[in-house]
Amino acid sequence: MQIIQDIALTKSLCRSLKQEGSLGFVPTMGYLHEGHLSLVKQSVKENPNTIVSVFVNPSQFGQNEDLATYPRDLERDVALLQECGVEYIFNPSTQAIYPNGFDTWVVPDKLADVLCGKSRPGHFRGVATIVLKLLNIVSPDHMYMGLKDFQQQRILKQMIIDLNLDCDIVACPIVREADGLAMSSRNSYLNPQQREKSLSLYQGLLKARELFAQGERDCGLIINTIKENIENSGGVIDYIECVDPLSLQSVQEAEADTRMMLAVYFGKTRLIDNMALKA
Ligand code: AMP
Repeated sequence: MQIIQDIALTKSLCRSLKQEGSLGFVPTMGYLHEGHLSLVKQSVKENPNTIVSVFVNPSQFGQNEDLATYPRDLERDVALLQECGVEYIFNPSTQAIYPNGFDTWVVPDKLADVLCGKSRPGHFRGVATIVLKLLNIVSPDHMYMGLKDFQQQRILKQMIIDLNLDCDIVACPIVREADGLAMSSRNSYLNPQQREKSLSLYQGLLKARELFAQGERDCGLIINTIKENIENSGGVIDYIECVDPLSLQSVQEAEADTRMMLAVYFGKTRLIDNMALKA
């Protein structure tokens, strides 16, 4: 197992790994859970070599967000990755990634104006910039990302097309706790009551699916039904929207590929989840 901080070393390592066949890459902010590990396991299965990055990217956090308290445990992450058969971890310092004088940003446009982009201005600028930097350092053939962050993988797929990058994104299914809550490093912020109430997100998404299966096509009505359930559980809604999976624009009439997207606060903790309306 090699844990590498240095950018130049990582570049030359990855160049030589690519001589052995395809290189899989899993970018993460650490504090790994089974959701992250599902991407890692898929990459290990599909590529002779896999490299995982662990880097809490400051530029994707807003001023009043949780950068300072974001959970970190590199030692545990390393042990989990080792169990999955990962041999290379890229763990750069913030100073190495954003040295003094850093001044160049990747700014996604319309896809970042909606949903999380609307409530977290600048978030996707930070995400796109770090991911482009990581792709330039690692030059992977395949990058594994979770559908948990549906908008993120959509924006990055578009970035790869728009900037002619030689990598594809393998989008992996959302991994959930036994009771349905989507796994997230931020779930550790929830107190026991909030953890219990947060189940209303998954239940809401299932309800939306059920309504769709019964023939309901009015997105306004579907949204209102689950909004009520979530609010009754004490969740404060940031957004609930039915969107087109490609444009991420809101739709009024639900179709088979319509995606239900939501972001809800429990206390200070903001949780996101999503699901296709058609099972
Ligand atoms: P993060 O560490 O939160 O930046 O996440 C790193 C990667 O793991 C992203 O591609 C996420 O979409 C993915 N991921 C996080 N949680 C889950 C989950 N519950 N299921 C599947 N993928 C996930």
